[in-house]
Amino acid sequence: MAGISIESLNKRFGSFVAVNDVNIEVEDGEFVFLLGPSGCGKTTTLRMLAGLEMPSDGRISIGARNVTYLRPRHRNVGMVFQDYGLYRHMTVFGNIAYPLQVRRLSKDEIRRKVDAVAETMQITEVLQRKPDQLSGGQLQRVAIARMLVRDADIFLMDEPMSHLDAQLRGHMRAELRHIQKDIGVTTIFVTHDQLEAMTMADRIIVMKDGEMLQFATPREIFERPKNEFVATFVGEPQMNVIDVTLAKTDTGVAAVAGDVVVPLDQGWIVANSLGDRVGEPLRLGIRPEHVAIAGQPDADHSIPANLYAFEPTGAENLYVMRCGGFEVTTRTSTTDTAHFDKTEGASFALRFDPQWVYLFDRKSGDTIAYAAASLTDDEKE
Ligand code: ATP
Repeated sequence: MAGISIESLNKRFGSFVAVNDVNIEVEDGEFVFLLGPSGCGKTTTLRMLAGLEMPSDGRISIGARNVTYLRPRHRNVGMVFQDYGLYRHMTVFGNIAYPLQVRRLSKDEIRRKVDAVAETMQITEVLQRKPDQLSGGQLQRVAIARMLVRDADIFLMDEPMSHLDAQLRGHMRAELRHIQKDIGVTTIFVTHDQLEAMTMADRIIVMKDGEMLQFATPREIFERPKNEFVATFVGEPQMNVIDVTLAKTDTGVAAVAGDVVVPLDQGWIVANSLGDRVGEPLRLGIRPEHVAIAGQPDADHSIPANLYAFEPTGAENLYVMRCGGFEVTTRTSTTDTAHFDKTEGASFALRFDPQWVYLFDRKSGDTIAYAAASLTDDEKE
């Protein structure tokens, strides 16, 4: 077992920069997710870790070994590919045994190891079948079993659950996390599915356009996103973000967007020196669960809105509202809003929880002020 150290890693394909100056320190035993939209450089980074792609610059160490230019077979890395990469003409047993045969283990030892891993992955009954006689979930378990059997220093997984149906994915999320923690091997998992990363990771690396935007725990990524891209990439439905200007009002400072005035928390304004930014064009972010709705305006719910779409998910109700020139999604419990009008155009009033408002720079997208409720006690002082 080993940690992973990636220093100033770059990959260029001709003049195109696929991975741009990535630096990552992964601790021994950590489960780390590479998360980002299609084409952001996740797979290329993983392939450089596996030795399937050579870096243009930079250094990769696994444990104390500099593996940057080592061939894949000398890295002792276990890998699961998106398409599983199983040999169709071999049985499941043959597929799992293959990496052990390459290492010339004895027949008895191979049998013992394959049986043990098959039991862990609950695929003992399909060991004599061929891959095309298996379900998607079984195929995935076989691919993972073949990775686990190798006593590798690190594991690399490239979207291994992308072919599974929603129900099986949910089940496999919990199962894979248990297996990774039981075995304790440092694992890097590539996905574009934020829910997968949020529910399974010890830490998440968010990537965009070949660059690493943030490397932090799921909670930190969710509550303290470094910029607007990270803020809107995690969370479903995504964070509402609207163009605002900070303005002085009778009671303090508010974020103003046309006729819409969002009063802000005064302590938070002072703590972040936001008074200096009055008049500046910014972006205000608030998650759907932090927008409260009422059937009509009152002292608290002062932002007028009209219903654009009602989306019941079963567990909760989403109301997509139009207020001023922008759209705001709210997420509410089904019981609290059971009696509300659900016809398009119906009038409502909103309240943005001032403890959960974020501000972003309109040009760079950088977070200027995290939500007050996301700060630690030390930071609030
Ligand atoms: P996805 O989720 O779609 O797999 P990704 O984040 O894993 O995306 P990569 O596969 O790492 O992205 O690709 C990053 C960028 O590098 C893409 O724009 C891709 O087209 C480009 N790229 C990858 N491999 C090559 C190659 N061999 N030659 C040229 N460009 C490449």
